[in-house]
Amino acid sequence: RSSAEKFEFQAEVSRLMDIIINSLYSNKDIFLRELISNASDALDKIRFLSLTDKEVLGEGDDAKLEIQIKLDKENKILSIRDRGIGMTKEDLIKNLGTIAKSGTSAFVEKMQTGGDLNLIGQFGVGFYSVYLVADYVEVISKHNDDKQYVWESKADGAFAISEDVWNEPLGRGTEIRLHLREEAGEYLEEDKLKELVKRYSEFINFPIYIWATKEVDVEVPADEDESGEEETTESSPSEEEEVDEEESEKKPKTKTIKEKTSEWEVLNDVKAIWLRSPKEVTDEEYTKFYRSLSKDFSEEKPLAWSHFSAEGDVEFKAVLYVPPKAAHDLYESYYNSNKSNLKLYVRRVFISDEFDELLPKYLNFLKGLVDSDTLPLNVSREMLQQHSSLKTIKKKLIRKALDMIRRIAEEDPDESNDKENTDMEASDNDEKKGQYTKFWNEFGKSIKLGIIEDAANRNRLAKLLRFESTKSDGKLASLDQYISRMKSGQKDIFYLTGTSKEQLEKSPFLERLKRKNYEVIFFTDPVDEYLMQYLMEYEDKKFQNVSKEGVKLGKDSKEKELKESYKDLSKWWKDTLATENVDSVKVSNRLDQSPCVVVTSKYGWSANMERIMQSQTL
Ligand code: ADP
Ligand code: MG
Repeated sequence: RSSAEKFEFQAEVSRLMDIIINSLYSNKDIFLRELISNASDALDKIRFLSLTDKEVLGEGDDAKLEIQIKLDKENKILSIRDRGIGMTKEDLIKNLGTIAKSGTSAFVEKMQTGGDLNLIGQFGVGFYSVYLVADYVEVISKHNDDKQYVWESKADGAFAISEDVWNEPLGRGTEIRLHLREEAGEYLEEDKLKELVKRYSEFINFPIYIWATKEVDVEVPADEDESGEEETTESSPSEEEEVDEEESEKKPKTKTIKEKTSEWEVLNDVKAIWLRSPKEVTDEEYTKFYRSLSKDFSEEKPLAWSHFSAEGDVEFKAVLYVPPKAAHDLYESYYNSNKSNLKLYVRRVFISDEFDELLPKYLNFLKGLVDSDTLPLNVSREMLQQHSSLKTIKKKLIRKALDMIRRIAEEDPDESNDKENTDMEASDNDEKKGQYTKFWNEFGKSIKLGIIEDAANRNRLAKLLRFESTKSDGKLASLDQYISRMKSGQKDIFYLTGTSKEQLEKSPFLERLKRKNYEVIFFTDPVDEYLMQYLMEYEDKKFQNVSKEGVKLGKDSKEKELKESYKDLSKWWKDTLATENVDSVKVSNRLDQSPCVVVTSKYGWSANMERIMQSQTL
């Protein structure tokens, strides 16, 4: 189109498209669910706007919030159309090419090191998956605030936009037209598309239709001369019985022929899984729902889920999931992003997935959905954000989330110290085995950040803490396990911080404690230093950094005597080292092999903290 305005794709987007075009062996099916997911998002947006302004929906067909799939076998075109919010010319330029999403380069990098294209939706670049199956794509879009435009690209580094003077007016919404590649012919088969919608888009909250061709029986008048010879099918057997001979002779003869007709056939049954009773929802349905909610279409199942409803002053239903893996940018954006992964619905209507009032930051790794009957529908997002019942919802969500995480540990046979307590079903055992270690490796840092940030739930979170220690034998241990192994007379929980377990195992601070069979926790994550400034005690036991002063072991009768006899030496050391270097010099009972050690004062930074502050990393 000569009148079209031409644009270049942003460099990173261009690279992504090259990768997609050339990925010969990946699963091409995924483009359909990405397009349907975008259509569904666009429908959510217009429905949300219509809450405060009914006019935006228009009338007649335009007001129908639905998705339509159409096939044109002759021209090898597959089109997906929605009556969603649509895109203005500016939206088309920004969203489909000139501005790279934050996940773009992360995804390109992943793909270059053999990543899975299946995860494209999680990185916010799902649209470009159309080039898995098409070599030319047109996006026709009509937004209420603008004229109808066509975006088009052959994925050759450039795209073009023109005002649409060729196609029928859309009213409102977007139609994506895929000119399929030679080898992508299977996507012109109705059955294939139906199967894909069933498999990947079952939980979309808007009806998905396909323009389906059917063979139907049509009755037509039978030709005079053929009557009697041609086999004719009467309308229905039951009717036939009622008709007597005489009358049937007067009736004009008809025959039935097969004829092809097309009509819209709905492919999903728009069920809100969260409104159903948890007893009626199967594990497979929960897993599938998780996938569509999180766009995580990896093979792995979520580690846990919790489906519940709250009644009383504030009513809501919720489904929460612990994903099998942390999102690529979970901790990267921790302090500057508020993005929660919970979707908020009010009376079945999607409101927002950027509501930071629903969960505290440290639980942002959870995925899920909240649907409340108590919140008002027809107010702005900002007003909603300040609604008093959000506090109650948040409190309950945290409680339920922590319960769900605790259950992963309780059901994990690896977690149980108690060897006799293994009467669980074998298969059950297999499935839950090692799940908590997996959880801990992915999300342990979130639990630690929770201990730092959430004073009200500190003890509950501390229960979820895992670590290695001098006695954990290469596995993970909990504070409860530590306490159960404490020596009689031991008052404090001992720990040591550093860069690695290997480094800590050689520490002189451990010599005596080890010899005397005390357990010492190894904290090797930089965040642990901060953690221990907040976690002062657990179950009435204080924490003691064994590299700091104040380590109390069993009483040593000779201690006083020794102190006395080394008094002069201690003084000489102190004077020699000078006050700006050391606070005091003491006779120690913590060493075994090493002659001396530098100890931090009780309230000072540990040597490890000094190191962290110098490198300024968290
Ligand atoms: P994501 O859906 O994660 O934002 P995509 O690459 O799938 O990423 O889509 C990019 C953007 O293009 C969307 O955020 C949206 O703004 C716009 N978009 C895509 N499809 C549609 C559509 N059918 N209707 C309206 N906007 C759309
Ligand atoms: Mg998308």
